[in-house]
Amino acid sequence: MAAPTQSEIDLLAAAPVPAGKLLINGQWLEGEAGETQVLSPINGQVLTTTATASQADVARAVAAARASFESGLWSRMAPAGRKAVLHRLADLIEKNSLELAVLGVRDNGTDIGMALKAEPGSAAGTFRYYAEAIDKVYGEIAPTADSILALIHREPVGVVAAIVPWNFPLMIGAWKIAPALAAGNSVVLKPAETASLTLLKLAELALEAGVPPGVFNVVTGPGRVTGEALALSMDVDVMVFTGSGPTGRRLLEYAARSNLKRCYLELGGKSPNVVFADAPDLAAAAKAAATAIFRNAGQVCVAGSRLLVEASVHDEFVSLLAASAAKMPVGNPLSLATQIGAVNSETQLLGNLGFVADAVKDGGKIVLGGRRALVETGGYYMEPTVVTGVRPEHRLYREEVFGPVLAVTPFADEAEAVRLANASDFGLAAGVWTANLGRAHRMVRGIRAGVVHVNTYGGADNSVPLGGVKQSGNGHDKSLHALDKYTDLKTAWIQL
Ligand code: NAD
Repeated sequence: MAAPTQSEIDLLAAAPVPAGKLLINGQWLEGEAGETQVLSPINGQVLTTTATASQADVARAVAAARASFESGLWSRMAPAGRKAVLHRLADLIEKNSLELAVLGVRDNGTDIGMALKAEPGSAAGTFRYYAEAIDKVYGEIAPTADSILALIHREPVGVVAAIVPWNFPLMIGAWKIAPALAAGNSVVLKPAETASLTLLKLAELALEAGVPPGVFNVVTGPGRVTGEALALSMDVDVMVFTGSGPTGRRLLEYAARSNLKRCYLELGGKSPNVVFADAPDLAAAAKAAATAIFRNAGQVCVAGSRLLVEASVHDEFVSLLAASAAKMPVGNPLSLATQIGAVNSETQLLGNLGFVADAVKDGGKIVLGGRRALVETGGYYMEPTVVTGVRPEHRLYREEVFGPVLAVTPFADEAEAVRLANASDFGLAAGVWTANLGRAHRMVRGIRAGVVHVNTYGGADNSVPLGGVKQSGNGHDKSLHALDKYTDLKTAWIQL
């Protein structure tokens, strides 16, 4: 897509947003539990409403998913047939990408530059990746005795429930919906209450692309109402989730209290970005470290939120980083000039400021930002914030902020760097900056995380898995490995 102009964006942003409904069995329905107001973080004003799905609505959506699965219309369609439909869906996402990006920005506050790249662009690529993969996934023949033929089939699991967060709803939604549908499952999706709109539009496009009614259903509403009903369902086979640790814990409880559905959790992070004095280019590393934490106002699961810097270059590095961050404009996320958009909600903003206040009480020093940013639109914004002198026992070191707040801690040597990097309950991502090849490999081995970036931060691709260790979760999105979540193995043991 050609880069959009500001006036194209403004025109789309001026359009009213219709009220969101539930998609159940191919029908758009009101929610039995009323509606939820959607506030735009850009200005704090009501953008539209979405339907609130009751327990009965959720049960209807799960029943529709089950019936569509049992019908075989999608689940037993030749993989090449599902591939064609998912490619059509990717085409439609691309065709509507500017509309989707602008709608998403109005809903969740991500800056338009990032939304264009990370939301429709990425989601279309993910649908294409799994469309292409699915007719290349084979079963196996086991090496048994000569008198036996043992076939290992891969089958769709049945009904998949997906619950997703408000940051990057389209991208993260696609990471789950695309492999689940490609493998032949039926899906019930529960978007976050503060970021449902682009996923409702995706559902509309899925119907247009030819996904049969009932195969992809969307129920909107609060986590404690709609999400809980879905997670407690007795007829969901697999629950895939991206969100916070506390919600992840609840989902495991719900699974235990209901039908022991399998739960795959992608949770939060407090990712260390480790800078050695021998980094190839300290200025470039400082610029990348600023982007690693401040892009999308810090609302990125893999954000490099703990900066560990070798003591000999600590002061130099912190001033390079602060200078770089100070040049990142905070503002209306619909403006092409903005690099740091809105914080998703007032609750989130107040939480971010609370972390900064606690860090100062603990003895941390603010070297940049620390306050709410005032933007002419109103809404919820925060200055990029850098706090030095943060120690492993401090709250800012241990807990995920999910906002534009960087904790900085010095280290003396490689052994201390590994110790500090691993001094966390999380293990999602990490970065290491060094020109020493041996040290780079030792650090990759030593840091417990799902991904360790070396001399860069945050690169990703559909071909590599994303997931965490420790309390960052237990599942992987993306790559062919994700298909394991959406397929069951079945053995046929045949006496010859
Ligand atoms: P959240 O846990 O508050 O909400 C996530 C989803 O769960 C929402 O749809 C919400 O409505 C639903 N939910 C909330 N309570 C529920 C309940 N009791 N039962 C069922 N559903 C419930 O998380 P969030 O604030 O939307 O997202 C931010 C979090 O997501 C951060 O911790 C971030 O690190 C994490 N995240 C992780 C990844 C990853 O790949 N590991 C990616 C993005 C975000």
